[in-house]
Amino acid sequence: MSYLFTLPVPAVPVVGSADLFPVRRIYCVGRNYADHAKEMGFSEREAPFFFMKPADAVVPGGGPVAYPPCTDNLHHEIELVVAIGRGGAHIPVDQAQDHIHGYAVGLDMTRRDLQLALRDKGRPWDMGKGFDQSAPLSSITPASAVGHLERGAIWLKVNDVERQRSDIAKLIWSVPEVIANLSEYVTLAPGDLIFTGTPEGVGKVVRGDELVGGIDGLGELRVILV
Ligand code: MN
Repeated sequence: MSYLFTLPVPAVPVVGSADLFPVRRIYCVGRNYADHAKEMGFSEREAPFFFMKPADAVVPGGGPVAYPPCTDNLHHEIELVVAIGRGGAHIPVDQAQDHIHGYAVGLDMTRRDLQLALRDKGRPWDMGKGFDQSAPLSSITPASAVGHLERGAIWLKVNDVERQRSDIAKLIWSVPEVIANLSEYVTLAPGDLIFTGTPEGVGKVVRGDELVGGIDGLGELRVILV
């Protein structure tokens, strides 16, 4: 049996390898830094919650990204991204790192006006989060090269002006806790990406803006809105 047509497999370069990391699913964690939860109007510590973006929302390596339709308030969210290399369900926290292939720098681009309007009506916020090119991603650095990241600066500049700066040690739910919790809801598989949440300082960007973000040990991600 063959297919009526072929679909491209979204894939991301891997540092030190000629092979690409194929993307299966993109999971995202909401409100996982206290100071970002506050700026979004929330103060209680709560269990992690998840949403998704389509796999083909990934923009491998960054570069030019088209300003999306249906928004006047496009926001940047710089995030540590975990690339799953080994699948599993009900993964214990103390074994979660064994499921990680590597780490990357990602941007969870957000149509904030749509997201908040949908949220406030109790509707799914997919169209605020899961649009075309909404997940620019740096190359993946294997954990075998960089180790498992538990602390280090995370930052984003827009047109050379710093907008976001924090430390991944401030994640409310750590990477192993996120993997353990998410794997209670769904079976994780190789190719899954997890955007782990953004620190404070999110804000609006417009056509022509240059976004450059980084995380200690992972290099930089550069995006230009066109
Ligand atoms: Mn986010």
